Amino acid sequence: MRAAIEKICARFGDDYWLKRDNDGHFPKEFYRALADDGWLGVCIPQAYGGSGLGVSEAAVMMQAVAASGAGLSGASAIHMNIFGLNPVALYGTEEQKRRMLPPIAAGKEKACFAVTEPDAGLETARIKTRAERRGDVYTITGAKIWISTAQVADKMLLLARTSPSGADRKPTDGLSLFYTVLARARSYARGRVVFGRPIGQNQAIQHPLAECWMELEAADLMMLKAAWQYDQGMACGPAANAAKYLAAEAGFKACQTAIATHGGYGYAKEYHVERYLREVMIAKLAPVSPQLVLCFIAEKVLGLPKSY
Ligand SMILES: Cc1cc2nc3c(=O)[nH]c(=O)nc-3n(C[C@H](O)[C@H](O)[C@H](O)COP(=O)(O)OP(=O)(O)OC[C@H]3O[C@@H](n4cnc5c(N)ncnc54)[C@H](O)[C@@H]3O)c2cc1C
Repeated sequence: MRAAIEKICARFGDDYWLKRDNDGHFPKEFYRALADDGWLGVCIPQAYGGSGLGVSEAAVMMQAVAASGAGLSGASAIHMNIFGLNPVALYGTEEQKRRMLPPIAAGKEKACFAVTEPDAGLETARIKTRAERRGDVYTITGAKIWISTAQVADKMLLLARTSPSGADRKPTDGLSLFYTVLARARSYARGRVVFGRPIGQNQAIQHPLAECWMELEAADLMMLKAAWQYDQGMACGPAANAAKYLAAEAGFKACQTAIATHGGYGYAKEYHVERYLREVMIAKLAPVSPQLVLCFIAEKVLGLPKSY
């Protein structure tokens, strides 16, 4: 699976992503290529046009996309089609599944997932958007912000209140974990010669890269554990939160190390690693911040008093 995704991603090189970074346009050619080969329905059940695989397989796919150099720009372009409609696949009625899932699996419709509001970020339960039933229809009132791909999406899965207060909702559990750039820093360290030898021959360059490799691998194992637990129907909250935290930290360190390895060139757009660092910040900020993950682990795993 990884090899098949890498083959598609190889058609969209660094220049393609640099152009999208500069013009801000949605990467529609990339989206289409994955849709045409049937990848967008990877974890949608076969009965509704997907491949019926698990979150574990989808996570491997998303890793391959991010690691190809597409980064978070590439991953964000497709991750709502892949994971976003999971609540419908799990809890929807038969009619809803038949209506909503096949166009998403085929890439005919793009979805986005709207939770965040100007006054409610991490505190999801405080959202103010209201859904009121009037006869046969719901009228929705409210404001959303920061909704990835909303500008190009055909459909929005939106979180709203149907009762005024007290009916708190749990934030949706999700796995969106991405790996970044270690490979690029390694190849630069091999090729860049300073003081008569490749910089990668110096331990001060080697050791941070080796640390990044180990930390990314550890995050990978935790992510696969969480994905496996989810696919088995087991409780996956602690592992999913830990994986999200570890992957974001390891990704950030890898990007920072990649820039340092490149020296001054690391700051130049043409070498791509500055974009990776900018994009990997998203994994630290959304959908849940590192602080809130630590609060969750302290409370739910260590049994300490709730602090937020
Ligand atoms: C690029 C991008 C894409 C996004 N895409 C989407 C999307 O598709 N759909 C969507 O619904 N949302 C999306 N978001 C929004 C994202 O989920 C929110 O930004 C995130 O949930 C954090 O909310 P906030 O920014 O309002 O931070 P706040 O809730 O205002 O928190 C600010 C800071 O305070 C810290 N903090 C707050 N309370 C505590 C506490 N008790 N203890 C310790 N620290 C605390 C937090 O950790 C954080 O660092 C996106 C955001 C970005 C940046």
